[in-house]
Amino acid sequence: MLTHRLHHVKTRIATACASAGRDPSEITLLAVSKFHPASAVVTLAEAGQIDFGENYVQEMLTKIHETSEQMPLYPFKWHFIGPLQSNKCKEIALYADTLHSLDRIKLVEPLARYRPSNLPPLTVCLQVNIDDEQSKAGVTDWQDLLTLAQEVQKHESLRLGGLMSIPTPNPDPIAQRAPFMRLRVLRDRLAEHLNITLPLLSMGMSADLEAAIHEGATIVRIGTDIFGQRPVKEQQKST
Ligand SMILES: *Cc1c(COP(=O)(O)O)cnc(C)c1O
Repeated sequence: MLTHRLHHVKTRIATACASAGRDPSEITLLAVSKFHPASAVVTLAEAGQIDFGENYVQEMLTKIHETSEQMPLYPFKWHFIGPLQSNKCKEIALYADTLHSLDRIKLVEPLARYRPSNLPPLTVCLQVNIDDEQSKAGVTDWQDLLTLAQEVQKHESLRLGGLMSIPTPNPDPIAQRAPFMRLRVLRDRLAEHLNITLPLLSMGMSADLEAAIHEGATIVRIGTDIFGQRPVKEQQKST
């Protein structure tokens, strides 16, 4: 069932790429495993899935431990996509491959300091609050984005990869594209300003991955359409 769903999502990605004139190899499918057990991650890994996303540090650590016990040689890549507190930067620096949700300068120095020198640099995406929603995490201001990017660039143990966003849900597949387009334009502007390439655009979830791919997503973050509905305890869970 799980591998069937994984395959179905890959087919959706391939179809969207065909219609957008893109190569599916440009797109990383991130399987968002939050609230789902390590056994589900193992099943998908056995089917070749490498990239997994988690929102809560403690849950991620437990799952890394459990999955690596069962598949010690498997090249898992763990992506942290949730809100990050400064007292958890060390764990992210030690265990994550990519952080999608950097939105504060305060986190940059501890992330850089705790990243072990025997690991590749931690890839970092800056989270943008693209619809300027009151309650949502992410940078809203151009100058703040630029300053944050420049702060990341100061550290050799961090690699500035691009931008990430979670737009306001919208059921209309055409309207879904507007915030994704704005994120792409912002990424292009930032890259030009810094005179670097920023290859990563982490955008698109179960309900809007096609729109995101049309607008240039390079990482789509898919939970529900791979793992099924998450248990409802989601609301009350903290870090
Ligand atoms: C949970 C989550 C996802 C996955 O969402 P689905 O709609 O279940 O695909 C993607 N990105 C972030 C940041 C999330 O928290």
